[in-house]
Amino acid sequence: MKRRTFIQATAAAGLAATTAPYRMALGEGTSFSVDKAIVIGAGIVGASIAYKLSKRGCEVLVLDKIGPAAQASGNSFAWINASYFDMPDSYFQLRTQSLNEYHRLADDLEIPIHWGGSLEWYHSTEQEQEVSAGIQLIQVQGAPAWMVDAAQVAEIEPGLDLMGNWKAAFCSRDGAVDPAGTTRALIDGHAWHGGSIIAPANVSSVDEGPDSITVTTDVGEFNADLVVVAAGVGANDIAGMIGLGTDLIRPATPGIIVTTCPMDRLLNTVCYTTDSHFQQLSDGRVLIGEKAGAPQTEQHNLLLTGLPNAYPTAELAADHAERIIDTASRYVNSLANAEVESVGVGWRPLPLDGLPTVGHVPDTPRVYLASMHSGVTLAPIIGHFAAMEILDGVRVSPLDDFRVERFL
Ligand SMILES: Cc1cc2nc3c(=O)[nH]c(=O)nc-3n(C[C@H](O)[C@H](O)[C@H](O)COP(=O)(O)OP(=O)(O)OC[C@H]3O[C@@H](n4cnc5c(N)ncnc54)[C@H](O)[C@@H]3O)c2cc1C
Repeated sequence: MKRRTFIQATAAAGLAATTAPYRMALGEGTSFSVDKAIVIGAGIVGASIAYKLSKRGCEVLVLDKIGPAAQASGNSFAWINASYFDMPDSYFQLRTQSLNEYHRLADDLEIPIHWGGSLEWYHSTEQEQEVSAGIQLIQVQGAPAWMVDAAQVAEIEPGLDLMGNWKAAFCSRDGAVDPAGTTRALIDGHAWHGGSIIAPANVSSVDEGPDSITVTTDVGEFNADLVVVAAGVGANDIAGMIGLGTDLIRPATPGIIVTTCPMDRLLNTVCYTTDSHFQQLSDGRVLIGEKAGAPQTEQHNLLLTGLPNAYPTAELAADHAERIIDTASRYVNSLANAEVESVGVGWRPLPLDGLPTVGHVPDTPRVYLASMHSGVTLAPIIGHFAAMEILDGVRVSPLDDFRVERFL
């Protein structure tokens, strides 16, 4: 029996886990039971938390002002990795645990993941030395990562031109997922376990009472024992609604992601270099991004007001896609023949110090916050730990360095 079938069978037989068997066992979590939860945000982070809560028998409603993967999660480069250089060890461990959790999740929900590792290289001696020093740091932390020369790169990635005789960092554990497809799979899994979703539903207020919490939207009012805020770049708005201030995350920065139609396999690894990054999904589509941000012109500033995820015209989208594909095809010639499936603009939800913010909000314990960049990498482990904290009433120590308290 496949794992997913087994889970379905146990759930159908009423064997799904019940909530809070160990509530307050450690004496440092919340003191109320959570049988009913609302998740604000159907990006990959909210979807993962909703899935894990529903799977454990909690009654969960997801609310989103647009729909699943409509914002950052649908417009992400989606490199899943624990190979950032110079990270605090707790962050390195969290990312590593999430990669492990991805293997379990892929099995549970039949999510295709391309596990080919990553190559990162730059076009100056100084940057090459920086990357090499970074690799030494993450080796100490336990990462399966090392420097490879151009000949070794040619073996790993035969279709790649490094544009010079450079050394690259190779991180063998990294992978690539379809961020929108994974988000939808999580929402489907949540629904399979009895969860529901209402979208569009724009949240305008969140009010905590002594015994419950109320969420007001443009389509009605909803009550629950607890609200999870996984609103991506909307985190500051919701933080403002609960009196937490409105600067949990930095002003969002945009990134353009071009998705090609499926192509024959061109790439084994996620590739990241000076002016371009690209990776090929399991189904053959290639995601391509660029390093440059939008030029600070008056026209750009006007167009980018309101954080749009799409271009105002098809011509403008095609122009940007052409430039991004041209740059990438200098490294992988066959990309010059790519047909464009979509061009999206993603906005990065980046907490003030760059690290995730996760957990119950002090003084508003019926609100649980989950806000982060690298949310595609982190979603599986955040879903897992959030479900433990919410349903079991405990504090999970791997999240200790990522609490909202550090900003208060
Ligand atoms: C260009 C780009 C490249 C990236 N590359 C990577 C990468 O390689 N690897 C990686 O791990 N991460 C990467 N990231 C970051 C990653 O994509 C995000 O951290 C992640 O998608 C955040 O997920 P989320 O669920 O928190 O937010 P989102 O996906 O933005 O979801 C938040 C949801 O909340 C909803 N919402 C907001 N406000 C309200 C409201 N008031 N009422 C109702 N609903 C609301 C929105 O509609 C949205 O659907 C990248 C991001 C970008 C933009």
